[in-house]
Amino acid sequence: MIDTTPATSSLTKRATGYHLATELVHIDSDAVKDNYNASSVPIYQTATFKQDSADGSGGEYDYSRSGNPTRTAVEAHMAKIMKAERAFVVSTGMTALDVILRLVKTGQEIVAGDDIYGGTNRLLTYVSQYNGVKVHNVDTTDPKRVEERLDPIKTRLVLLESPTNPLIKIADIRTIAARVHELCPSALVVVDNTMMSPYLQNTLQLGADIEYHSGTKYLSGHHDLMAGVIGCSSQSVAESLYFVINASGSGLGPFDCWLLLRGVKTLGIRMEKQQSNAIEIADFLEAQGLKVHYPGLKSNAQYELHKSLASGPGAVLSFETGDVGLSERIVESARLWGISVSFGCVNSLISMPCKMSHASIPAEIRKQRHLPEDLIRLCVGIEHVEDLINDLSSALQAAGLKVKR
Ligand SMILES: *Cc1c(COP(=O)(O)O)cnc(C)c1O
Repeated sequence: MIDTTPATSSLTKRATGYHLATELVHIDSDAVKDNYNASSVPIYQTATFKQDSADGSGGEYDYSRSGNPTRTAVEAHMAKIMKAERAFVVSTGMTALDVILRLVKTGQEIVAGDDIYGGTNRLLTYVSQYNGVKVHNVDTTDPKRVEERLDPIKTRLVLLESPTNPLIKIADIRTIAARVHELCPSALVVVDNTMMSPYLQNTLQLGADIEYHSGTKYLSGHHDLMAGVIGCSSQSVAESLYFVINASGSGLGPFDCWLLLRGVKTLGIRMEKQQSNAIEIADFLEAQGLKVHYPGLKSNAQYELHKSLASGPGAVLSFETGDVGLSERIVESARLWGISVSFGCVNSLISMPCKMSHASIPAEIRKQRHLPEDLIRLCVGIEHVEDLINDLSSALQAAGLKVKR
């Protein structure tokens, strides 16, 4: 049976022509009717809503799994920011991908990148082992590698990240989306846009059908909640996604919706600061003769391509030292840079992806995918840039490198 419950938890909201930094701060008060004109969207911490009539009809909301006013507010806000037809918020970034993967049937295929988030790799491996879905991992920096794997009948999803993580490689989303839609009209182009956030890159406008985010990262900005956000460009896809969210109960709880809404208001100012810090840090590392992966460096082969897709290079970069032991010493010598997985928080983090966030990818596959074991990833925060560079400089020195300033 098809559940045609109206998706009360989502409203369509279109951008009004202001800059995104302005849109981020202003929550459209039409999204939620509030009797008291509260300036901050109230938290409707309730599972059920009373109905007016015995047949249960009448109320806009009945049960929070299906819809909740606080969730409606954040979903309408996210749809506006992502320029999406509709947006949904779910419990984590991986839940967002899980909801999207329910659109793929046994026998269908997925084409995905070969430098992808570790958790994404784990979930794709699961569907290929248990659900009879073939997953092709290809180098998405070359649209031809994607094209080779497309099948007009079987391909259901093309899953991209750009920049990729942790090697910060760029996929030409615009070209790939156009080719996929031409060759496989029933396939959906899906982009995990977590690394850029909607502030720097709008993948629905580049031709993607679905864009999703780990709201745990830049959107919330303080590592104090977990969330996933999905935006899509068509109502029919939105209805399929809503069906899964309502059926499986993966919608975000009211309190976390409220926290996400609060966090996202400062996305613009955080991202500007984090990015300008990252640009200076990338220059500093490059000046040390280290191999730096960051699309904000003019020396980066994909500098122009990235510039054609996004309005900035973001605040995540990685670099190679040539020696695993040296990298470990650098990471452990840093004081200001916290050793932690994840990114997008106001404070700066340092990690070795092969030992941490990407450790769930087996060593031999990491090798096949040219993931250097000595790679260090930096997730730059909003601290004063001099303190960040001084700390990094001391860590490089403590680990045995000569630093040029
Ligand atoms: C963190 C992350 C995810 C998963 O999000 P969670 O909120 O941790 O479930 C997916 N993709 C990327 C690129 C991420 O960084």
